[in-house]
Amino acid sequence: MPFYHYIVRYIADAKCINTIDGVYLSEKKNLQYKNPKYACEVLKRLKKRYQRDMKTSLNFSDPWELLVATILSAQAKDKQVNKVTKVLFKKYRRIKDFSVMKPAELYKYTKSIGLYRNKTKNIIKTAKELHRKFDDKVPMRMEELTKLSGVGRKTANVVLSNAYNINEGMAIDTHCITVSNRLRMVETKNPVLIERQLMKLIKKEDWNNATHLFIALGRDACTARKKYCERCVLQDICPSSVIK
Ligand code: SF4
Repeated sequence: MPFYHYIVRYIADAKCINTIDGVYLSEKKNLQYKNPKYACEVLKRLKKRYQRDMKTSLNFSDPWELLVATILSAQAKDKQVNKVTKVLFKKYRRIKDFSVMKPAELYKYTKSIGLYRNKTKNIIKTAKELHRKFDDKVPMRMEELTKLSGVGRKTANVVLSNAYNINEGMAIDTHCITVSNRLRMVETKNPVLIERQLMKLIKKEDWNNATHLFIALGRDACTARKKYCERCVLQDICPSSVIK
């Protein structure tokens, strides 16, 4: 790639702008992959293969439970988080209960989860903030959610879309990063840029669903370690497919 193309790409990435109809000037050859029609076909097939309306696999009965589960789920398996929260939420339910807990008390429940010390502290800090400033309620706005301890855009998107049915953005996890790059809908590993670029390609009503469909594909056929293209419903349209 000529040097000036790197500069165009760098500026476009930095400003998160695409230069022509969702395509970098230097990447016209990829036109078909950064195109809403291609995204639409991808989602149509994934909905058929997995489930039409997918939701998070974390168990919860209210926004606070989902917020706790999502904080715990970073770099951890949802199955393990569900095991922990099942016991935890039997004993502690209200935000107020968590706001007065000592970390050692909560460690007893969270210690089987990776990075549990930090996550536990963030849960308690968040509970205190919600108790003090939000009348024991989880806010419904991205700006307020992302100001809470341990809550980034990904966690906020999961809570907004799954607990409140609000599509503000897309939660981008490692599966979404792998899959969207292999499908060449994006060419960056930066979750913030991926979210912005996918939001331009995918219809708003599909943002939450797309996240879960990419996760399902990432767990099933398009894993980070290996691609199982032979069992993938996108094998004939994906540029990274090994099936000829
Ligand atoms: S065809 Fe292969 S590389 Fe492409 S999305 Fe499917 S599993 Fe991944």
